[in-house]
Amino acid sequence: MRVAVPFGKSKICTALVSKIHKNAPEAYEAKDIHQILDDIPLVTEKQLEHWSWIANYYMCSLGEVMRSALPSAFLLESETLVLRNEKFIDEKSLSDDEFLIVEALQHQSSLKIDKIGSILDRKRVLPILHQLLNKGAIQLHEELYEKYRPKLVKYVRLTEPYSRKEKLNDLLSSLSRSKKQRELVLSYFSLQASTKKPIKAKLLKEESGISDAVLKALIVKGVFEIYHLQVDRVSFENNKNKINQLNDYQNIAYTNINNLFKNKNVVLLHGITSSGKTEIYAKLIEEVLEKGKQVLYLLPEIALTTQLINRLQTYFGNQISVFHSKYSLNERVEVWQNVLKTNEKAQLILGARSAVFLPFDNLDLIIIDEEHETSYKQFDPAPRYHARDAAIVLANIHQARVLLGSATPSIESYFNVHEKKYGLVELNRRFGNVLLPEIELVDIKEAHRKKRMTGHFSERLLLLIQEALKEKEQVILFQNRRGFSPIVECSTCGVAPQCPNCDVSLTFHKFRSELRCHYCGYNRAMPQTCVACGNASLDTKGFGTEQIELELKDLFPDHSIGRMDLDTTRGKYGYEKIITAFQEQEIDILVGTQMLSKGLDFANVTLVGVLNADNMLNFPDFRAHEKSFHMLTQVSGRAGRDKKRGKVAIQTFNPYHQILQQVTTNDYKIMLKEQLDERYQYKYPPYNRLIKITLKHKDYIKVDAASKWLATSLHNSFGESILGPSSPAISRIRNQHIKTILIKLSKDHSLKNSKVIIQKIKNSFQSIVDFRPVRFNIDVDCY
Ligand code: ADP
Ligand code: ZN
Repeated sequence: MRVAVPFGKSKICTALVSKIHKNAPEAYEAKDIHQILDDIPLVTEKQLEHWSWIANYYMCSLGEVMRSALPSAFLLESETLVLRNEKFIDEKSLSDDEFLIVEALQHQSSLKIDKIGSILDRKRVLPILHQLLNKGAIQLHEELYEKYRPKLVKYVRLTEPYSRKEKLNDLLSSLSRSKKQRELVLSYFSLQASTKKPIKAKLLKEESGISDAVLKALIVKGVFEIYHLQVDRVSFENNKNKINQLNDYQNIAYTNINNLFKNKNVVLLHGITSSGKTEIYAKLIEEVLEKGKQVLYLLPEIALTTQLINRLQTYFGNQISVFHSKYSLNERVEVWQNVLKTNEKAQLILGARSAVFLPFDNLDLIIIDEEHETSYKQFDPAPRYHARDAAIVLANIHQARVLLGSATPSIESYFNVHEKKYGLVELNRRFGNVLLPEIELVDIKEAHRKKRMTGHFSERLLLLIQEALKEKEQVILFQNRRGFSPIVECSTCGVAPQCPNCDVSLTFHKFRSELRCHYCGYNRAMPQTCVACGNASLDTKGFGTEQIELELKDLFPDHSIGRMDLDTTRGKYGYEKIITAFQEQEIDILVGTQMLSKGLDFANVTLVGVLNADNMLNFPDFRAHEKSFHMLTQVSGRAGRDKKRGKVAIQTFNPYHQILQQVTTNDYKIMLKEQLDERYQYKYPPYNRLIKITLKHKDYIKVDAASKWLATSLHNSFGESILGPSSPAISRIRNQHIKTILIKLSKDHSLKNSKVIIQKIKNSFQSIVDFRPVRFNIDVDCY
């Protein structure tokens, strides 16, 4: 259970009791527990076991895991700010003390928890605050997160007085003089009778063929009213759709998965894009839910997966809960409680990586969709865990099964198949037997030399776009950089404006005419002349999505062009607006960054263009080739998902690059073999383990000295396994200088012993006064 404990002179913190023992601490005098906050435990034994594994494996403290795992509403402390909930009205339900707090909050917009203690003239206020939170009377101050905002759809219904059947005749006779209005009302009734679901305004219009003006008139008369539903919140109650019948190939895959589960806890489903992996997941989920057990469905990034959530919701309706660290506190608390109580509402949990921390009790199956996605690895802060690996451990604790799914599995997972740790099931046909798109590489070196490019478009790509548009089909274009151009350079003196806080050049954003740092957010107006030599000879180099969008608007003035990247999806309903507009075919050509590659399913897209594949391939990272293969295959997979075979055109300076060849021929196995050979030769994962230590400080001399000391100490214990210290490609971010040291452990090193040694060295490091202010991060299995 949670307890409130004093910390220092006056601070109160919320803590969790993980173990009861009788060994008095030696280094300090223990204080009394202030009070116990829960009636029943909020965290289960199994969770503690899982959290301890994470803390041990990823070399962080159990407290750090707890902070990541628990929604912050569970961790009140004296510094927490409390606010009134403006929507709360039921003051009668409050006790005297509770009322006092709510009243105090009417005079002051927010109060710290210790201040509340003095208002009530007592120290123990946390239980009262919990009551108030439960009753919805107060809120906690939290940073304004960008919330998951589902698509809102316009629905229409009869107003209360007319919604009764016996009123129908009265209504129709009162409308006798307006034929159109009568027809609309009749259409509404026939739709209601046939669908038995809420009626979309759009559907009513389509079915009746009657204009909006008529509906408006009836709204003014008070017959109809408009309301909005979030697509994902629509409750289908008992009207759930049946899940689709699997086709023969899917059925075989499904049977094989179940057979493998008899001997293996983890199975990898390698199914090409649009082969219907989701339908197989649905079938497996259905079985588990029928047994009354829980399923965890992990997704790389929730914001991008509205489509998938909607799809699963039509099958499983109210049994789904969505959990995401960016949701509001209340929503997260609600899901936590529902999972803990194994409530029916939370039988299928959809979540991004932090959902592995929920209090499952009855977990039977974990599905890890797009298991190759690198966003499953938490980068900062600690725990720097990999959600796929943490989920497999979680499954072991629960004796549950894990299904990994991807069209482009990670090299690590395939390696585990070779090692016979995971089972493997393949699905090599697209649903409906649509062929995989035809991929062509467009050599732009020649075209550049002969000056035959139009902006950044080859003749070939332009032709393909024109053809698709002529057929009224849609196009997706991919460029993995946002902004107008990543470098602005003076053509006289060669100086490029740099970020004052980071070691990178500033990106030019044309629309706002400013230069921006993509690492710290620094921005300034675009200068007219070079800051170094004063000449008006500034030139842009490289290109991002903004530039492509502008070129397209010139090239195709009669078509609508959309852009999807971090800059266009920030605001309210950002992603949803663009995705919906594209789905409704209001956008003909959509330009975007890698956001576009993630699991989207648009039926009318027949062409995907990649403007430049070379940047990605040349990135200095041992995973660059693997990642490029994933990205290009996934983005290609957006083409021709419905009936017609799609086309993909990849522009490159180097069409003979082996990865591009492998993408074109969809040759995952050859890619895998080559990459494994390379990893073996250069001692990279999955053959070796990588632990990365990052040191940061604003004083370069300090961090440099610290990194040399550390490398020497590590070298004494690990010898040649230590690489560095070195400066990363971007060696300063937000004024912090960065040094990294890489430890490459071969698999015959005991991981456990190595970590003990690293921890010891870290302790010595931190006992050196000069190094104490240097930030020391450890990243196990770093990416
Ligand atoms: P994947 O997840 O492998 O990319 P999806 O599950 O999204 O593939 O399936 C691709 C498309 O084919 C979707 O629009 C889906 O509704 C449809 N589909 C797949 N399997 C079936 C099935 N058995 N019955 C009906 N439609 C299916
Ligand atoms: Zn910066």
